[in-house]
Amino acid sequence: SDVRLSDFERISVLGHGNGGTVYKARHRRGCPAQQPLALKLFASGDLSAAREAEILRLAADAPHVVRLHAVVPSAAGGVEEPAALALELMPGGSLAGLLRRLGRPMGERPIAAVARQALLGLEALHALRIVHRDLKPSNLLLGADGEVKIADFGAGKVLRRRLDPCASYVGTAAYMSPERFDPEAYSGDYDPYAADVWSLGVAILELYLGHFPLLPVGQRPDWAALMCAICFGEAPEMPAAASEEFRDFVSRCLEKKAGRRASVGELLEHPFIAERDAADAQRSLAALVAEAEQSGDL
Ligand code: ATP
Ligand code: MG
Repeated sequence: SDVRLSDFERISVLGHGNGGTVYKARHRRGCPAQQPLALKLFASGDLSAAREAEILRLAADAPHVVRLHAVVPSAAGGVEEPAALALELMPGGSLAGLLRRLGRPMGERPIAAVARQALLGLEALHALRIVHRDLKPSNLLLGADGEVKIADFGAGKVLRRRLDPCASYVGTAAYMSPERFDPEAYSGDYDPYAADVWSLGVAILELYLGHFPLLPVGQRPDWAALMCAICFGEAPEMPAAASEEFRDFVSRCLEKKAGRRASVGELLEHPFIAERDAADAQRSLAALVAEAEQSGDL
């Protein structure tokens, strides 16, 4: 199939990232015709475009992972260096956007729906030897009915060998696990998949507190301050209202030693997730999405 950038009509901007801009768009002759989708445009020469396309193709059947509709080749580099990716449109936007529009932190019930679905996505990705390496609220997207999907594989990697060095500084430093700052110090129990669990834990806690949890509010998140807080800082303090299950869930994700951190499988069986009506939790997330939509700008 020869999809071209000019085949897409851009409707509005959905978001900006390091990579480029994501538009709500429609394919003029698309199938199904005219259905809105998300068009992620890359700067020319951005190597993350090809990586993201490769991973999304590998993960085409994984649950809770955003779908790739088409790869738009660039004039210079063809499909090897895509100019854009046509993605499934996630109408609720990102969890970062939801938090912003709500203007207040989220409760445990909707957060459990986020955690459960993100864990199911991670479980499938890890089984395919894919590490995401950039989990954060802006890369978790909301569909209809409180559905959550993992997006943005620009920092992702397919591990060809078990101990592929993947501690390189890709992704967003704020959500990077301690062992990724200093892989050598941790080489004994290095588990590349555990880094995704840490990032998810930080993201979950951010939804609960309403702000990035590992630095004092207002402190500039420069690299040195982040490394210091992540590798040597105390575990962030939890509000007194937090349930015992939630505290434990978060602390199992934010275990500094990768080898002691909970695995994705263990977290799916954690009481915070498992001893809860999943459909009920998802409905409470859907209600928040609906409320945020009322408040206007997406
Ligand atoms: P960054 O490097 O900042 O993480 P990026 O350039 O890799 O970002 P994405 O994270 O893929 O780009 O997308 C940026 C934003 O665009 C998201 O946070 C989200 O708000 C919006 N967005 C991306 N994909 C979709 C989609 N499929 N449906 C709806 N919104 C989307
Ligand atoms: Mg992103």
